[in-house]
Amino acid sequence: MSDAEPTTPPASAMSTPAPVAPPTPSRARPKRGELTFAAPRAGRPPQHLADLDPSERKAAVEALGHKGFRARQLSTHYFERLVESPEEMSDLPKAIRDDLVARLLPQLLTPIRTLAADKGRTIKSVWRLHDGALVESVLMRYPRRATICISSQVGCGMNCPFCATGQEGLTRNLSSAEIVEQVVQAARMLRRGDVAGGAEGAPLRVSNVVFMGMGEALANYSAAVGAIRRITDPAPDGLGVSARGITMSTVGLVPAIDKLAAEGIPMTLALSLHAPDDKLRNELVPINTRWSVDEAIDAAYRYFEVTGRRVSIEYALIRGMNDQGWRADLLGT
Ligand code: SF4
Repeated sequence: MSDAEPTTPPASAMSTPAPVAPPTPSRARPKRGELTFAAPRAGRPPQHLADLDPSERKAAVEALGHKGFRARQLSTHYFERLVESPEEMSDLPKAIRDDLVARLLPQLLTPIRTLAADKGRTIKSVWRLHDGALVESVLMRYPRRATICISSQVGCGMNCPFCATGQEGLTRNLSSAEIVEQVVQAARMLRRGDVAGGAEGAPLRVSNVVFMGMGEALANYSAAVGAIRRITDPAPDGLGVSARGITMSTVGLVPAIDKLAAEGIPMTLALSLHAPDDKLRNELVPINTRWSVDEAIDAAYRYFEVTGRRVSIEYALIRGMNDQGWRADLLGT
């Protein structure tokens, strides 16, 4: 999920000249406070290797009439070697390579625009999906880590009034592979040297993944968890990012937080609170009308108890809205 996602690039951004239209919502803008859980557009993107676990990949390759071990070769190229062109897959006979690539490694994200800020250390990318929808990801390189902020939905159904994405409504869920592909693209950018910064000798790899782009990932639960497994599975089955480097941000979908705690993935949870009292939070974060401040915080605490992982509380200060002293005191109690 994104908090107050900017609608314009930072002033220091350099960009390619073509303007990009925002994602086209497939429905009317939501009414104030209206929540949408079911994605209205049902069309699925093409199946991709990253939608499948290793045994499903083997079955998929065999169903195409090829030997099962080809699945592992494809996984190695995609997750471990970050191969960008089928020509580099020289251990796959040419006669079957094109078929396997077309069926299991279709292009899911087409780059539309990149914006660089912070002296080239931060790169925001706009991607077009197979159905023309647009999503964004942001890669940030620090001296000893590289963080990618990814999207999990086209639009968002949570309708937070301060958020541009929320005002567009929910167009559709991303597939696991569409989520994973944002991380793979970031890893390729780092490897190509497209991102400035980083201490000398620091590894050129994605170390942190945050679900803070477009969408509420816990409302797209199975695709998000599938993506997290692909991102954290050791290479070549997955990208091998430490689960401790993953942060799931949520506005507080209580049953999904409890379900996530039971997955056995030691990732960080970030609860976007933004108000400590139900009256204001019902306005600022409409999901609060479903699960209150106390219920959301209790779920976050249960997450900590089950996983032992740190939980962070996010609170965006809005002048005159949620920045009163008494609310700070209430937040601290
Ligand atoms: S939950 Fe959705 S509407 Fe709310 S801030 Fe995040 S992306 Fe925006």
